[in-house]
Formats: sequence, C-alpha cells, structure tokens
Amino acid sequence: ELVLVTGGSGFIGAHCIVQLLEAGYRVRTTLRSLSREAEVRAMLKADGVQSDVQLSFVVADLLKDAGWAEAVAGCDFVLHVASPFPASVPKHEDDLIKPAREGSLRVLRAARDAGVKRMVLTSSFAAVGYGVPVTSQPFTEESWTNPDAPEVAAYYKSKTLAERAAWDFIAREGGALELSVVNPVGVFGPALGADVSTSIEIIKRLMDGAMPGLPRITFSIVDVRDVAQLHLLAMTDPAAKGERFLAVAGKSIPLQEVAQILKTRLGEAAARVPTRLLPDWLLRVFALLDRSVALVVPELGKVRQVSNDKARRVLGWAPRSNEEAIVASAQSLMVLGLLK
Ligand code: NDP
Repeated sequence: ELVLVTGGSGFIGAHCIVQLLEAGYRVRTTLRSLSREAEVRAMLKADGVQSDVQLSFVVADLLKDAGWAEAVAGCDFVLHVASPFPASVPKHEDDLIKPAREGSLRVLRAARDAGVKRMVLTSSFAAVGYGVPVTSQPFTEESWTNPDAPEVAAYYKSKTLAERAAWDFIAREGGALELSVVNPVGVFGPALGADVSTSIEIIKRLMDGAMPGLPRITFSIVDVRDVAQLHLLAMTDPAAKGERFLAVAGKSIPLQEVAQILKTRLGEAAARVPTRLLPDWLLRVFALLDRSVALVVPELGKVRQVSNDKARRVLGWAPRSNEEAIVASAQSLMVLGLLK
C-alpha cells in the first residue's frame, strides 16, 4: 500500500516516514523543493532506515495548487503533517492561517478526487485547549480552542481553523474519503536532522544555557515516536474513522522539572541548564521587547492537564514517559552535534 506524508523534511513527518517504511508501506512525501531530498534520505539512513526504493518525493507547497494531484495519485492513505510551526510571531496572522487552512483543503480535495481511503490530519492541542477556561479537569477531545478569544495567538488560530475546515469539508463534500485527526501536545523525543522543530528548540535553549532562568510555565509532553505511531493507528484502525485523538504522554510538567530531569539524567552535559525561576514581572518586561516572549505571559502559572484516555482505550496506544521524551531530545541534539 502507498501512503503520502506531507512535509517529509519536518520533525514529525520524518518520524512518520520511518515507521511507515518499517511497517512495509511504500511512501511518497512532499517537499517544497527537491533540493532537500538528499538531506531527508540521509536523516532516515542515520536512523537505520533504507529508503532508496520504497520512498519517493514530489514538490508541493500548501499555498499552491501545483503538485497535489500528482502527490496523492494512487495513494491508499494520506498523513497530512505539514503546516508552518514558527518559533517567532508572524507579521500577519494570515502567514500561518492561509497555509494551514487552505493547505489542508488542497490536500483533502486532491485526496478525495484520487479515491484515497483515509486522511490523518496532524492538528494540535493548539486546536483544543486555548481561549477557554482552564480548570483542574483534564482536557479531552470534546474541547475546542476559541479562535476569537483575544489571547489566542496566530499559530493556535491557524491549527484550530485548519482542523475545523477539515471536518467541515468531510461533512459537506468529502465523498468516500475518511478523516482522523491527531492532536499532539508539545512534541519531544529524538530529532533526526539539523533543522530542529520549534518544540525541540526549547530543549536546545535549555542545554545551551541560552535562557537566563525559567519562566513559571507548565506544559504537556509527548514523544515524537509515539505521535508517529498514533498516526499509523489512526490511519488503519476502523474505530478511528471520524475521530480526533489527543497525543499526550501523561501529566503536565513544570519547565523547572524538565530542567531537573536534564540535570539528573545527563550530568555534566546539562551543566548550563538553568534551575532558577524567573519572576513573572521580569517576563512581563521582556514581553514588551520581544513578541515571542509575549506568547509566554498568558501561560504564567497556568496548569492544563490533558487526557490520553481515548487513544489508549480506542486504539490501544501506550506512550513513553515524559522523562524518556525529554532525555531523548537532548541526547539527539548531542549526537547530531547541535549544541553549543
Ligand atoms: P517542522 O517545522 O519540523 O515541520 C513542519 C513541516 O511543514 C516541514 O516539513 C515544512 O516544510 C512544512 N511546511 C511548512 N509550511 C509549508 C508550506 N507552505 N508548504 C508545504 N510545506 C510546508 O514541525 P513539526 O514536525 O514539529 O510539525 C509538524 C506538524 O505537527 C505541524 O502541523 C504542527 O502544527 C504539528 N504539531 C507540532 C507540535 C510540536 O510540538 N512539534 C505539537 C502539535 C502539533 P519545510 O521543511 O519546507 O519548511
């Protein structure tokens, strides 16, 4: 069987390709430019996966129609993983919303027209738990981000609007195409290449001593290998049709505990990881100067819990621990020579 993975150059996309090839699927992947084909093949090879025969590449951009019909032709399944995930705040929110929403619709339309059986969309917890009250109750798949709430940043909006558009498309004009959605929290675990995702960038900054101290934030974590596995389960399990699944390892964890895990598990290599908490007022001052720090301010002191009960119960998913995901990220950065 043939599977299209959009965005094979990305962190999650590459791990999906690894697991599909290991499971015996043929895989096609999209890139914005074929100039990155060698780099993607090298990433897979370094992870012990031969891709010469079973993996092919096509050029397609989420902002353009060209290439999508060719990308999905003959595919049984599509994993639509690609979407912009920048570390900084965009000039215009449409810089994120357009590729996310219109890109998803382009891939859906092409998949329906080509007779693809099922598409799995990589959405996010960004589409689940923001712009709504935070209580001690864990968030579940029933919850949706309110994209109109003033504190909801462009990236969160982009993921919410893209997922909503995908479900609307399936309901109105999806034909025989089935949709499943995976909503990961912060994704950690081993990076495969040098172009690290925004989530891994946090571990890199901690390890490099690039942060003067730790903001008082708490977040949820999942290992990229478990996210990829959940995509494969959502692709093949009949029970996943029409369902969204939160991908989360367990309880949310304060950044200070992440720092402590790195110190305890990696010793000398984590000597530069800060342990001191930054006072909230200092972050509010930094936020005036740097718009990406401003994203952190509404999160200070907030604790969101997220349930993985549905993926466990319906799909038999059993994720790795927070600790394993965090340590694997740091170790991969060390092996790839990406730390200062
Ligand atoms: P990466 O930045 O590593 O990957 C993003 C991928 O999207 C890249 O392959 C990138 O291609 C591609 N892409 C971006 N814009 C376009 C475009 N206009 N046209 C075609 N391709 C494009 O991030 P991740 O792997 O971490 O993220 C993958 C998905 O997972 C995203 O949908 C993200 O929202 C979601 N996600 C990630 C989480 C995380 O913590 N990492 C958490 C929850 C969801 P190129 O290499 O050419 O830039």
